[in-house]
Amino acid sequence: MIDLYSDTQTRPTPGMREAMARAEVGDEQSDSDPTTLALCERVADLLGMEAGVFMPSGTMCNLVSILVQTRPGDEIVVDDQSHIYNTEAAGSAAIGGVSVKALSTPAGLFTPEAFEAAIRPPARTAPRSALVSVEQTTSFSGGSVWPLTDMRRIRDLAHHKGMKAHIDGARLLNAVAATDISARDYAKGFDSVWIDLSKGLGCPVGAVLCGASHFIVEAWRWKYRLGGAMRQSGILAAAGLYALDHHVDQLELDNANAGELKARITGAPGLAIEPDAAQSNILCFSVEALGITATAFAEACLAEDVRIRAIGAHQIRATTHLDVDRAGILQAADVIRAQAARFHEVRR
Ligand SMILES: *Cc1c(COP(=O)(O)O)cnc(C)c1O
Repeated sequence: MIDLYSDTQTRPTPGMREAMARAEVGDEQSDSDPTTLALCERVADLLGMEAGVFMPSGTMCNLVSILVQTRPGDEIVVDDQSHIYNTEAAGSAAIGGVSVKALSTPAGLFTPEAFEAAIRPPARTAPRSALVSVEQTTSFSGGSVWPLTDMRRIRDLAHHKGMKAHIDGARLLNAVAATDISARDYAKGFDSVWIDLSKGLGCPVGAVLCGASHFIVEAWRWKYRLGGAMRQSGILAAAGLYALDHHVDQLELDNANAGELKARITGAPGLAIEPDAAQSNILCFSVEALGITATAFAEACLAEDVRIRAIGAHQIRATTHLDVDRAGILQAADVIRAQAARFHEVRR
C-alpha cells in the first residue's frame, strides 16, 4: 500500500524506536525529565525563541496559544481552510470562548490587506480582535508556503493593533526545506509558534510550542489544566530529538516527491491541478471534470493500493512523507493517471 493520505501515517523507524527505548527519563511535570527538557531547548533554539514546552499534539499547541493570548469574547483571525477553524472540534470556541473570523482565500494565504480589513475597530459592541494565526505551510490548501514578507507584514499589523501573532507551524520545516529561509527567520517576532513531530518528522506523537519565557509559563498552566502534563515523556521526546537529527533532510525529498507526483499526473484527463500546486509536500487536485466525487476517485485508487484523501466534494489531497519513496511515488502517479483515464472513458 502506498499511503499518501497524510504525513501522519509514518511509522517510527527502528533507529527511532531504539532511541526511545534508551531515553533517559524523569518527571516532566516537575521539569525533571532530561530528555524532554533537551527537546524543548533544541526546538526553542531552532525557532529562535526563549523557551518551549512539549505537548501531546499540535492541536493542543494551537488551543493553548489561543487560551493564553485571548479572553472569552475576543476574536481570532484565521484562514477559512485552517486547521484551527475546521479540525480542532471548535476548541477555541468551546474552551476559550473566542469567536473566529475565518478569511476566505484562494490558496490558504490571506493578504496583509485582507487581514487589516478584518481587524475590528475598538467598539463596545464588537468582539476585540486579539490574535492572528498563520498556517505555515497550509494543510488543506495544498501545502502552500507563506511568503516571508507577508508573514512579517501581518505580524507587524497585528502588533500595531495590540494583537498577538501566532504561527501554526505543523509543517514549518517543510517550508524551510522548500525555501531555504530558516525557521528562525520565519518565527522572528511572532508571539507563539510550534512544530509538529508527528507529521513529516515521523514521530509517533508530540509537538513543541515555543515563545517568550512568560508565554511558556502561562502555556504550562493551560497544558496542566487541560490534562496535557506528562510524566516520563522522555520516551516520546527522544523520538523528537532523533527526528531532528535524522529526518529533517528528508523533508526536501518529500517536497520533491510531491513535485514529481504533480509533474506525472499533470495532463491526465479530467484532473485539474493549479499551476502553483505542490509548493511543499502536499498536492491537491480536483476531479470535478470527471463527473465523480473525490470519495469515488479515492476509493478507486485505494482498490489499486494507493491511498489518497478526499478533502472536499471534488478535491483530493496527496501528502508525501518518509515512508513513501520515489518508486512509490511513480507507482502512485501511474495508478492516479490510470484511474483518471478510466473515469474519463466511462464519461464519454
Ligand atoms: C496536523 C495539524 C495540526 C494538529 O496537529 P496534531 O498533532 O495532529 O494535533 C494543526 N495544524 C496543522 C496545519 C496541521 O497540519
